[in-house]
Amino acid sequence: MKDKSFSNQIAIENIVIIGSGPAGYTAAIYASRANLQPLLITGFQKGGIAGGQLMTTTFVENFPGFPDGILGPELMDLIKAQAIRWGTQLIEDDAEKVDFNQYPFLIEADGRVIKTHSVIIATGASANKLHLPNEKLFWSRGISACAICDGATPQFSNEELGVVGGGDSACEEAVYLTKYGSHVHLIVRSSSLKASAAMADRVRANPQITVHWKTEVIDAQGSSWLESLLIREIDTKKEKTLKVKGLFYAIGHTPNTELFRGQVECNENGYLITKPGRPETSIEGIFVAGDVSDTEWRQGITAASSGCKAALSAERWLSKHQLTNLIKRDPTEPDQVKTPKEAETTTKQNYKSDSLWQKGSYALRKLYHDSKKPLLVVYTSPSCGPCHVLKPQLKRVLEELNGRVQGIEINIEEDKEVTKQAGVNGTPTVQLFKNKALFNQWKGVKQRSAFKEAILELLKNP
Ligand SMILES: Cc1cc2nc3c(=O)[nH]c(=O)nc-3n(C[C@H](O)[C@H](O)[C@H](O)COP(=O)(O)OP(=O)(O)OC[C@H]3O[C@@H](n4cnc5c(N)ncnc54)[C@H](O)[C@@H]3O)c2cc1C
Repeated sequence: MKDKSFSNQIAIENIVIIGSGPAGYTAAIYASRANLQPLLITGFQKGGIAGGQLMTTTFVENFPGFPDGILGPELMDLIKAQAIRWGTQLIEDDAEKVDFNQYPFLIEADGRVIKTHSVIIATGASANKLHLPNEKLFWSRGISACAICDGATPQFSNEELGVVGGGDSACEEAVYLTKYGSHVHLIVRSSSLKASAAMADRVRANPQITVHWKTEVIDAQGSSWLESLLIREIDTKKEKTLKVKGLFYAIGHTPNTELFRGQVECNENGYLITKPGRPETSIEGIFVAGDVSDTEWRQGITAASSGCKAALSAERWLSKHQLTNLIKRDPTEPDQVKTPKEAETTTKQNYKSDSLWQKGSYALRKLYHDSKKPLLVVYTSPSCGPCHVLKPQLKRVLEELNGRVQGIEINIEEDKEVTKQAGVNGTPTVQLFKNKALFNQWKGVKQRSAFKEAILELLKNP
């Protein structure tokens, strides 16, 4: 073994898929139906969230099979369920380290070292930031990289908002934000939009959107919340202040390939290089799917299609080299999957003082005043993909703690008043209370262990 930090080895896998976007899960469907019993590392925080980029959008209108469109997170839930139904095993964590210089290949995730005969890299791409001087100060206090996730936050309601970027995402976000803000300023560096004609038309036709051409954002200003932007006209260098309470980044993505640099061949922008039109990389046995190597198409369906190609190629390569350890399944036809159901909002009629998980401000108010147990309150919005990822993790923590703590879900769109009172300004936000006192607050998706450790600490000190 070259690297001593790789320890805790286990038996050799047929195939490990890294990434759980449309590319990764489609590869998993094909690989599991070929009886390869794939292991899929979903990703957690390093390169976006589990489920990938479609978890950050509302309606996907162009994925075949859904004539009325489908919410991005719902689509990803369905593709995931299909992969699991055929026997894909999930590791809900990031791949932390890989060693493709030796064979079998080594991957470290979830505190384990995995040995595998083949790998499909499907780590997609992550949103770019502007790196403004005050960006950190106002991150989640007005600045966001996901309008779809955070747009419904009460602080943005009926306020002027900014979106930076000129492509499809920027236009989609600008149009979407007009549902919440009083006016949207789209700040574009060039003199034209890169977005598709249909999307650009929607922006031009919307009187609630002003486009600031050839303009760049210099910095963000405010006190405890973003209040304005310093913007500059690129040609004249004239600076001015634009009063907005929100700034949403839509300035493209960077491929999540840091983990593989120096091992798998990348182009100058970090995209993995494959054989033209094929999923094979510079290393035999390592295959690629989706946006991580796609500099041109970057769509859900193209990612899914490349996941299919990668899995079929990997299967052929494994059998050619007689490396496959086929798993015999009984029965051959797996059980049907059950689609996860949304929790019902708690009312006076269905409220239960000892329920593990309830929804809405009625349950929160009752438990806040009456319960002696710690309360884990998660603030979500219906279109927030990260919330989708986090909720089942939180429910698992509550189950593991056998009812010693209770959970409440607050939809920030339905319960605006309670959200404002709680000082919540983005989703997902999780607050941990006991005896009416706030002990912890987390923003964004965190590891299950972070919540569990904080709750156990609280339970130790009654
Ligand atoms: C706002 C928005 C709207 C969009 N709307 C549409 C649309 O309507 N229709 C459409 O077809 N396309 C749309 N797209 C594009 C589409 O989402 C992408 O093309 C597609 O998701 C790419 O799929 P992927 O599987 O290659 O990667 P991604 O979806 O980016 O998924 C990558 C996965 O890799 C994981 N990962 C990253 N690093 C690691 C690591 N170290 N270890 C383990 N896992 C890791 C991530 O957690 C993630 O699960 C949209 C994109 C955005 C941003």
